[in-house]
Amino acid sequence: MALEITDTIILKSFPYGETSKIARCYTRDFGKVSLIGKGVRKGKTLRSGYLEPLNHLSLSFYKNPRRELQIFSKAEFKNVLSALKGDVKKITYGFAIVELVDKGVTGEEPHEELFDLLVDTLNAINSATGNINVIFWYFEMKFLSLLGFRPNLSTCPDCESILDGAVFSHERGELVCSNCLINGERKVSSRTITFLKTLKHGSVIDAINLKLKPGDRSEIGGFLDRYLRHHIDTIRNIKSLKIMERVLA
Ligand SMILES: [Zn+2]
Repeated sequence: MALEITDTIILKSFPYGETSKIARCYTRDFGKVSLIGKGVRKGKTLRSGYLEPLNHLSLSFYKNPRRELQIFSKAEFKNVLSALKGDVKKITYGFAIVELVDKGVTGEEPHEELFDLLVDTLNAINSATGNINVIFWYFEMKFLSLLGFRPNLSTCPDCESILDGAVFSHERGELVCSNCLINGERKVSSRTITFLKTLKHGSVIDAINLKLKPGDRSEIGGFLDRYLRHHIDTIRNIKSLKIMERVLA
C-alpha cells in the first residue's frame, strides 16, 4: 500500500459508522478515488472538515489498487472557496458541477485537463460578481468537449449548409438546419450559436464578458441541458440540477 499525494476536489461525502466518513474525490493524478477517513469525526480535531464537498485539497492517502476504498491519511487546503460556500446561488452551481463530474466521469483514468477545468471553474464562481450561470455553461461546454462530445455548431450534419440559426434534433441529439429537421421543436437562433461558439472556443473570461439579453439565457441553457442529457446518459437525473432550477427560478 503506497502513500500518495495529489491535488483533489471532494465531490461528495457521507458519515460512516460512529466516527468515520467516506468521500468520493476527483484527483488530478488518479481520477476518481473513493476513500474512508477512519475516525475523522472523533474528538475535537478538524479532520472531518477536510472531506466536505467542494473542498480543494492537497490530499495524502494510502492507495491499494486491489481495494475500492482507499484510506485517507491527511490533507491541507489548497484554496478556500469561502465566497462560493457562503452564497446560496454560488454553492448551488458548485454542487451541480461536482455532481456532473461525479456522474459523468466513469472509469478511473486521470484527466488533468478536466481536473484543471473543474478547479478553474470553481475559482471563477468563487470570485464572480455576476453571470454565474454563464460560468456554469462554460463548464458544461468544456466538459462535453473534454469527454468527446464537442457540439457541432458550424454546419448541418445532413446537408452541410452553414448553420445560421438551427433546430435541435431530438433524434440526432444535435443541431440541424430547419430544412433537414425530422423531429424536434427547439429553435436555436444564430445569436445563440455565436454565444455557444464563444463558450466552446473562448476562455472563462470571454464567457463572463458575454453581453446577454434575458431571452438568450433560456436558449443557451436549454440547448446545453438537452445536449448533455442526450449524450451522457449517466447524468439524466442530476439532483443538483433540479434543485438549481428550483432555487434559481
Ligand atoms: Zn441541413
